[in-house]
Amino acid sequence: MQTLHGQCQCGSVRYTVHGTIATLFACHCTECQRQSASAFGMALWVKDPQVQLSGPALAEWTRTTPSGKSMTGRFCPVCGTRLFHQVAFPGAPLSIKPGTLDDTRTLRPVAHIWTASKQPWVQLDPAALQYPGNPPDFAPLVEAWHAQETQA
Ligand SMILES: [Zn+2]
Ligand SMILES: [Zn+2]
Repeated sequence: MQTLHGQCQCGSVRYTVHGTIATLFACHCTECQRQSASAFGMALWVKDPQVQLSGPALAEWTRTTPSGKSMTGRFCPVCGTRLFHQVAFPGAPLSIKPGTLDDTRTLRPVAHIWTASKQPWVQLDPAALQYPGNPPDFAPLVEAWHAQETQA
């Protein structure tokens, strides 16, 4: 179990998440590029999350992913900072947008996905797993996170 603290850009919303970190990866798909208004998105997956929020109720927006699943993004209603993503299926992890954490020093992604649409100037860590699209199975990403956790 870990406890993670973070907030949106304007500070109206603060959050605490208790849970087990499953993995951390960067996604270079065009949806993440547009959502982050940047070159790629990052996702920190937390299993069995317990979320505590302070501030106004989060706004949300739901879209259908290429694999046909319903995914909801939650964000600060004041400044619009995206905080969480969650896919609607039982047992799905909470995906924290990890740039919103108070402590981002240990956030080194173990994998890069959707590299087929990555910006050409982005240089990937050769030690990280790479997938041109969505990984057929996320288990290797979870294993890679645990491997580097036990190393640290
Ligand atoms: Zn805000
Ligand atoms: Zn993406």
